[in-house]
Amino acid sequence: MQTNLADFIKDTPEGREADAILRACVHCGFCTATCPTYQVLGDELDSPRGRIYLMKQVLEGVEPTRKTQLHLDRCLTCLNCETTCPSGVRYGRLVDIGRRVVEERVKRPLDDRVKRTMLKEFLPRGELFKPAFKAGQLVRPLLPYSLRDKLQPARRAGPWPQREHARKMLALAGCVQPAMAPDINAATARVLDMLGIQLIEAPKAGCCGAVRFHMNDQEAGLQDMRHNIDAWWPYVESGQVEALVMTASGCGFTVKEYGHLLAHDQAYAAKAERISKMTRDLSEILPEFEGEIGARMAGRIKERVAFHPPCTLQHGQKIRGKVEGVLRAAGIDVVLPAESHLCCGSAGTYSVLHPEIAHELRDRKLANLEATGAKEIVSANIGCISHLQSGTATPVTHWIELVDRALAGAAR
Ligand code: SF4
Ligand code: SF4
Repeated sequence: MQTNLADFIKDTPEGREADAILRACVHCGFCTATCPTYQVLGDELDSPRGRIYLMKQVLEGVEPTRKTQLHLDRCLTCLNCETTCPSGVRYGRLVDIGRRVVEERVKRPLDDRVKRTMLKEFLPRGELFKPAFKAGQLVRPLLPYSLRDKLQPARRAGPWPQREHARKMLALAGCVQPAMAPDINAATARVLDMLGIQLIEAPKAGCCGAVRFHMNDQEAGLQDMRHNIDAWWPYVESGQVEALVMTASGCGFTVKEYGHLLAHDQAYAAKAERISKMTRDLSEILPEFEGEIGARMAGRIKERVAFHPPCTLQHGQKIRGKVEGVLRAAGIDVVLPAESHLCCGSAGTYSVLHPEIAHELRDRKLANLEATGAKEIVSANIGCISHLQSGTATPVTHWIELVDRALAGAAR
């Protein structure tokens, strides 16, 4: 597609990046077929092609309106369109740039500003979120539906192993996961301990940066990323740890992008690049141990399990088949549902900001998951897990909890 970017952006790093992405798009429209918001709303401007066109106009100097902002807000950033696009258009980076430019030019209504400020200030700060989450559970019946959904009872973490191992990896505690599901990292630590790896949580690391970055407060998001790099660097620089393990695929996708997002920051570029290269989703670590897990777990889980692959795993990190591979090696009957490529509607803060679309996508996803006949649903991202759990009585857990539970009776 031909472009003619406006003076305010064309000679900036963002402008050059956006220009290259826009030029790669040939407007074929293949991406519309797999876009969840186009499937729900049926409006071309709520499809990737339509949004690309809107962003092109804005970057070429057309003044955006509240309507432009709304069409960009409604995007889940699920990146299904990137997977589908035959021309390799990096839509995710373009929408980050487009949203930031529109945010600077369009004033949001007051209620929207208040809601977004609350989310940006509370979610990334564990010290604020944890007590707020507990207080919210006490008054859950009085809260609006979109918030009530997020307040599922937290599962108990259980013990964190104390053994030392020569092999060590760092885990990210994250922002909301320690309050909502402390058992996920504890289960990961127990499973890795059994396999001869010591998992360490750096005490000062916090939110991966995705919350604020994707809510158009990009400088605050980058600050969260620098904060984590500072917290991890002593472990990395001294060679104590061989990898950073991510148990939430949304965080993993963001940390793998640190190198790119901080490439123009002289003080952090090299560190960010190294951190990104060392980052692995948990499903990239465990295949090395499939034989051992299989031997210990064989026959322990008899019921069928359905796996919901988060968008940040399958479209963002392009990791497909690895979770299923580990679970199958463990003798578990794991199945993917129909339309497994489609977003469940969680998408970070999206389910709070756009509850109608989020609930429609959730219910469609749950219908497909339940049609498999599975007795348990597993996923790989805290956001998807709590969003799906809010719509079903079938247990929805992280897949590592399933492995941990099955191993609980085995000798560790
Ligand atoms: S983003 Fe890709 S699939 Fe979508 S219209 Fe452009 S080239 Fe076609
Ligand atoms: S990221 Fe997802 S919701 Fe957004 S345009 Fe692409 S496919 Fe549609």
